[in-house]
Formats: sequence, C-alpha cells, structure tokens
Amino acid sequence: MLKIYNTLSRRKEEFKPINPPHVGMYVCGPTVYGDAHLGHARAAITFDLLYRYLKHLGYKVRYVRNITDVGHLENDADSGEDKIGKRARLEELEPMEIVQRYTNSYHHNMEQINTLSPDIEPHASGHIIEQQVFTEKILKNGYAYESNGSIYFDVEKYNQKYHYGKLSGRKLEDLISNTRDLEGQEEKRHPYDFALWKKATPGHIMKWPSKWGEGYPGWHIECSTMSTKYLGDIFDIHGGGMDLLFPHHECEIAQSTAALGKESVRYWMHNNLITINGQKMGKSLGNAISLNEIFSGNHRLLEKAYSPMAVRFFILQAHYRSTLDFSNRAIQSSEKGLERLLEGMETLKKIKPATTSTYNPEELSKKCMEALDDDLNTPVLISHLFEGVKQIHLIASGKGSLSADDLQKMKGLYDTFVFDILGLEPEEKQAQSAITEKLVNLLLDLRLEAKKRKDFDTADNIRAHLLENGIEVKDTPGGYEWQWK
Ligand code: ZN
Repeated sequence: MLKIYNTLSRRKEEFKPINPPHVGMYVCGPTVYGDAHLGHARAAITFDLLYRYLKHLGYKVRYVRNITDVGHLENDADSGEDKIGKRARLEELEPMEIVQRYTNSYHHNMEQINTLSPDIEPHASGHIIEQQVFTEKILKNGYAYESNGSIYFDVEKYNQKYHYGKLSGRKLEDLISNTRDLEGQEEKRHPYDFALWKKATPGHIMKWPSKWGEGYPGWHIECSTMSTKYLGDIFDIHGGGMDLLFPHHECEIAQSTAALGKESVRYWMHNNLITINGQKMGKSLGNAISLNEIFSGNHRLLEKAYSPMAVRFFILQAHYRSTLDFSNRAIQSSEKGLERLLEGMETLKKIKPATTSTYNPEELSKKCMEALDDDLNTPVLISHLFEGVKQIHLIASGKGSLSADDLQKMKGLYDTFVFDILGLEPEEKQAQSAITEKLVNLLLDLRLEAKKRKDFDTADNIRAHLLENGIEVKDTPGGYEWQWK
C-alpha cells in the first residue's frame, strides 16, 4: 500500500486515487529561457520515479507537465521584466525562438537523464484564452478586481472565507508585515494581491489581446487553468519543487478555489532543493551548474565530466524530501555506487543455476516494495539492492546457490527495480548514445566542410542519410543543429 507525504496535511497518507485505476498527476515544468540545471533534474527525476512506480503498481496515469513560456516576471511582486522577453532582447531573437530553443534543450536533457515524457505537455502560450476564461470566473465570483487594465486576485476577500496560506502554513497577518513595498504595487489594493492578468507596458513583447486590453497572464494562473483543463476540476497529485510552494502553489489553491468553489488537488508533493558545496544554488551566486556543463565537465566547480546516469543515481540516493548537497566528492561516490550495482547485475547473469537456493529473492522483492511504498524511500530501496549484490557475489564465488527458478526471479527483480522503476540505464546504452552523438556531429562537420568547398552533392547526401535514420538537421548561422525526429 503506497503512502505519500501530502504537503497540505503535513503527514504521510495512504494514496487513494479518486477514480482508480486512473491517476491524474500535474507537475510544474520549466520556464524555458535558459539551460536546465540540477534543480530541474531533481524535480523531473522525482516525479518520473513516481510516474514509473504508479504504472508499475498498475495505475493508468495521465501525467501532465507544463512548459512556462509566457508572463513570468523577474520577481514575485508582479514587476520587473519578462524573463523570456529579456533573453529575446539580449539575444536579438523572437521570444518564441528562445522558447523553442530551450524547450528543445530541456527535452534533450530530460532524455539524457532517462525521464519518461509526460502524456500531455501544455504550453502556457497555447492556453491564453483558457486563462482569460479562468480569470473571468474568479472576477465573476468576486475574488478579483480590475485596476488600470490589469486584473488582481483579492487575497483579503478570499481569506475572509477561505484560508490563504494553508499550504505553506502562513497567516495573512504575517504576510502583511513581511511584504516589502515594491515598485509597481500602486495598482494593487494590497501588496500581497497577485496578478491574474497584466496590462502590457510599452515595449513589452509577449502580449495578447483581451477584453481588458493588450496584456499577458500572470504566472500562477496557467497551472490552475491547464491542470484542471486536462485532469478535471479535482485531480489526484500536484507536484513541483519546494521553491514553488509559496507563492506559486499557494496562489494556485486560491485561484482554483475562488473559480470553482472547491480545491482541485488532493495530494500536494514537493521535492527538496539541491545545494552546491553547502550553498544555495543561484545564477547570481555563480554556482548554478547546468546539466550540459555537468555532462561536459565544463564548469569551474567541476573536477571532471559526470554521466547523466551518475547524476540520476546521485539524485535517487537521497530521499526526495531531504536536501541534497552536490559536490565532486558526493557525485564521485555515486558514480562508484552505480558501477558496483551494475557490476552486480552482470555477475548475476553469469551465475549457473543450482538444484537448491540459499537465498530467497522474494523477501528482497518485498523489502524493495516496502521502501517505495513508504513515500518513495529510494535510499532504503538502494541499500536493499546493495545487500542483494553482496549475496550475488557470495553465490558467484561458490558460497551459496540459486535454483533456476530463483535465479530467474532475482534477474527479474533487478531489471524491474533498477531499470524500470529507478530508470537507470546500463552503461553500454549510455556509451552507445554518447558515441552516436559524436558520430552525428562528425558527419555534420564533414558536411559543413563539403558546403564550404561547394560540394553540395555530398552535403545533401549526408543530410538525406541522416534523415533516413531519423535525424533532422537544421542549418543555423553558426553551423548546424540536429534532433531526433
Ligand atoms: Zn506551476
């Protein structure tokens, strides 16, 4: 029986979906204006593990993860520049070019760390009308007001009937004294009110028409809108990183309750954050390491490159609700651990069946399930798998035995937990995909050279052959980009 920690009730609860075997699960995805970093990897891997485990338990899961590609200002007080708009201005590109580039790069990184794709991946920019309709519902119910072409959520009014702060454990009185006076607040009745729709200021690039004038949706409204659109007014699980708990998820609860008269989410789940050498990670601190930098080793804090599977294993070795500190030492020890685990599985393949067994794989399997059932306790699960590896080595050295039947069970158990549920990949597969990547780049370098000497037949030939093998090539001013079709 699966128990998960519900951030809302602050305790572990037995997981009971509303409409079994169906499970609806929504996870806040990235804002696509830069490369994905370790924090993105941790959230993606945490909910990938949950997705995989729920499917293993026989549930039919609809996993929705959004792409935030609009209306996300630099600070939480609804002021500052749109992050995507700013990047577009700096790089002299269309905002949607920024969005496409970093969506592609996010997908590539997620594939490298072997997370399964969500079943639906809605973009905020594709749901502007739905967000306007949702905002209108809140207005109609009296929990929002218009001010100078923008629509704000009326937190105080909402708090008279409901509890604003129930998820993060805050009280409105505390928020009043903690809210700083920031620029752009004059339009709001209270500083803690938040934007559902913002009027576009002159020069703002990403904007859409509305009955309130040209503008763009607030950040929080996209998740209330898209989660309920695809999963229904009430759905099972909503996940995300702890950094999203307040204000983002708090505001989502308020919006959905104000619009629909009820709360949408039954289980709120939050993964903890990653620190780097004991420090909070942040661009301004210069220690935000992107996944690309980790995989190439190209960052001043890194002693060398680390493989995507070392990163995945490193993240899974901690419980998702614990903080996790990244350091060269810590990830190198994960590298060794993963090697030991995969070596154990190789040794298992070589064991010859005996007539009797000195070890019972079913007991190990039971312990592994119990660990996952206990709020996805991966460190305990991994320690059980290591205990099993010890047994494998004992048996391989003749100090024990497994019958043909138990040998089969043991192999099945490791394949299930290591590959299917923890989502780790055997080293050969990782190495093969790294080689493929290098070979494709080599071919495309040769193609560039062919183009330079005006040998367009060769250039076209290379492109056509790659396409035949499922690789799409795009010429860019700087050279080329390619992706799997
Ligand atoms: Zn969200």
